[in-house]
Amino acid sequence: MTKIHDVIHQGIQLSGLQRVCSYINRHKLSILCFHSMSVEDEHCFWPGVFISKKKLCEILDYLRDSRYQVISLTEAKKHLRGEVLYEYPVVITIDDGWYRSVVDMLPILERYRFHCTLYVTTYYVSHQIAVVNVILQYMLWKSNVTAFSLCIDGTDYEFSGSHQNMVNAVESIMINRTDSQKERIIYDIANALGIDTKVIELKLFQNASREDIRNAFQSPLVDFQLHTHIHSLPKDENAIRKQIIKNKELLEDMLDCKGELNDFCYPSGLWHPSQIPHLESLSIETATTLDEGLNAIGDHPLKLNRSLIMDNRSLTHIKLTLSGVLDVIRRLKAN
Ligand SMILES: [Zn+2]
Repeated sequence: MTKIHDVIHQGIQLSGLQRVCSYINRHKLSILCFHSMSVEDEHCFWPGVFISKKKLCEILDYLRDSRYQVISLTEAKKHLRGEVLYEYPVVITIDDGWYRSVVDMLPILERYRFHCTLYVTTYYVSHQIAVVNVILQYMLWKSNVTAFSLCIDGTDYEFSGSHQNMVNAVESIMINRTDSQKERIIYDIANALGIDTKVIELKLFQNASREDIRNAFQSPLVDFQLHTHIHSLPKDENAIRKQIIKNKELLEDMLDCKGELNDFCYPSGLWHPSQIPHLESLSIETATTLDEGLNAIGDHPLKLNRSLIMDNRSLTHIKLTLSGVLDVIRRLKAN
């Protein structure tokens, strides 16, 4: 966020507009989207996915000390259907099922007694290695190299070009290799780039395991829901069904909660109207996007707006998001 934005946001807050908007929107639901917590400098690498403990606690302190009330997704559904009425309701969601979100972020939320919903993508739950493209991007960002070479199984490879090109090239070499072979290559790349391999051992870029998820599910404040198996929602009906049913079956088996998982989060928040009837046919009750904004009572439950929490956004920005001021600004800009 630029300095000029910060100044404008501060001005709006001081003018009292935030308070007025927040009162007018007091029955609208805010859904916040978190991903994972950083242990080292991951929040500098990707502030839209990794949040520092300091920033997380700053936001949670505000939620605790302000008029907002954090409610469960179950209560939020009743609110949106008009069955109960909350004032200043907020839902906390956490995407993907990163190891650090389960072992670090959930205990912090528990200390605040806040409910949360974790949308889990299951492929990397059963493949307990770092998410390949993310750790590669991190290591390239950290080392800031433009080329490197590697010997894999006696063959020499040269990688160069943009970071994305190098990631694509490594991924193509990894196809059809086992998890342990992939992990060996990740270690070799870390060594080649001079990156401390503790980024692998600390599981900074790995999903939580089946056992981690089962343990976290013991808390009555934690809810797990659907996010597809491979973090992708196609447009084709059969492929959609396959992605969601596999994700649901694996999670229901893991958590021993058959029939309880009916809430969904579009991977990367990306959705298309043609997908809605297919979600309805799968009895999905709510689906969250990453379209910014608040949700009014009666809004379509499969097109729910959500605000992405980013480490590099100020607390003032978050206050303006929650109050609905940013919705007004967006509407004014669109006209
Ligand atoms: Zn996701």
